[in-house]
Amino acid sequence: MMSTHNNKEQTGDSTSSTDKAMLLLPHLRGYEGASNLAFNELVNKRREAGEEIHHLAFGQSPFPVMAKAQEALRENAGQTAYLQVAGLLKLREAVCRFHKKSNDLSHFSANDIIVGPGTKELIFLLLNVFNGDVLLLSPSWTTYRSQVYFAQRKVHIISTNIENGWKLTPQLLENFLQNNAIHQNRILILCNPDNPTGTSYTSSELESLSSAFREHNILVLADEIYAGLHFENSHKSLAKFYPEGTIISSGISKWASAGGWRLGFHMYPNELAMLRKTVASTASQTYSCAPAPIQYAAVWMYSNDTETREYMAHTQRILAAVASYCHRKLVATGVKAVAPTAGFYMFPDFEIIRDALKSKGIETCPQMCDHLLNEEGIALMSGGPAFLRPETELTVRLCFIDFDGAKALEESTRMGLNRPLDDKFVAQHCSSMYTAINKLAKWVEDTKNLIITN
Ligand code: PMP
Repeated sequence: MMSTHNNKEQTGDSTSSTDKAMLLLPHLRGYEGASNLAFNELVNKRREAGEEIHHLAFGQSPFPVMAKAQEALRENAGQTAYLQVAGLLKLREAVCRFHKKSNDLSHFSANDIIVGPGTKELIFLLLNVFNGDVLLLSPSWTTYRSQVYFAQRKVHIISTNIENGWKLTPQLLENFLQNNAIHQNRILILCNPDNPTGTSYTSSELESLSSAFREHNILVLADEIYAGLHFENSHKSLAKFYPEGTIISSGISKWASAGGWRLGFHMYPNELAMLRKTVASTASQTYSCAPAPIQYAAVWMYSNDTETREYMAHTQRILAAVASYCHRKLVATGVKAVAPTAGFYMFPDFEIIRDALKSKGIETCPQMCDHLLNEEGIALMSGGPAFLRPETELTVRLCFIDFDGAKALEESTRMGLNRPLDDKFVAQHCSSMYTAINKLAKWVEDTKNLIITN
């Protein structure tokens, strides 16, 4: 069967230079679309065709958008006028109040914000106007590298490791800078909480990283889009410790479960106003403004404190319970995994079954994921180059959101916030995810047994 796992994504392949390909810029010949979106479409097609697949390969909120936000969207469907390029003033003010309260960020004002049709677009524009090199961590979200490549900036990859919880440390940064020549203008993308590993940084970790960033004059794009899904509701923002050099990227795709609404924003410190202004100019020359009705509905999301906080408290604790069950179940088999502290993801390493897999003729991670999809009906995204990991590693990105979020949210709301959620809750109200992880764990055990019985 043809491999469903394409690890190439981020770079162009200029070898297939047919005449038509000559119409493309050389570096974009063979440029691939987002592998996570393509894989999601493939899995959905197979599901529509009747195949039963546990879809652990796509990071999308399982929960419904808050009912009153939906109402606000309906009420504002008639808002058809173009809005300010930077975004609706009321929205930018609401975003500032929200982040002041949630993350103690008081140095941003409405003028420091630009709203866009999703943060992906805003990251893209920033990378295209920035004059310098880009530092990425390995592993990291699949899109960063592809966007840097598109923008034709030089990329440097700093490898983190599972023992350190897949986190950047000042030491890793120092070692990297000592051994590599980097443009004097440098921007690092720090995803916190992280996709694909589910880890997040503590105050003291951010504090010591900030000193290193300051010392080496490194700007940081802090991708904090998963901040509202911190399991303890205690996300710490880098901008608190390194205000002058941190651009915050966030929006409604994750915590508010509205990825398809396409709305995100960037918050620039005053010191980087020049970058913000130029990004706003490129925004005005490309998308003009984020969709008006969505911006009005987002004002509701960022203003209605009580309802929003309650929604977040429920979704955070449901995800925490599911994450904890999945993590415990997997590590009990010997698979290595860092316990997620936020978001939808973990990044387990299946090294423990490498030899057993060989006895089945499976040598690589894409082969393992193909096997899991075709033989076990479990869709996982192979780690490897798309996530900036070595081809030889057996890491995968596992999204633990394959359950009926509406049902789980309804039950959590009925129970109230005083009682903690346990494994029984996961078994009963997130049952498809419970079944999926049990099946995956059993597959690991069975695979391990191949070696013992051989
Ligand atoms: N950053 C990360 C780490 C993400 O996972 C995603 C969505 N997959 C985005 C940014 C993009 O989000 P948006 O919907 O705001 O474009």
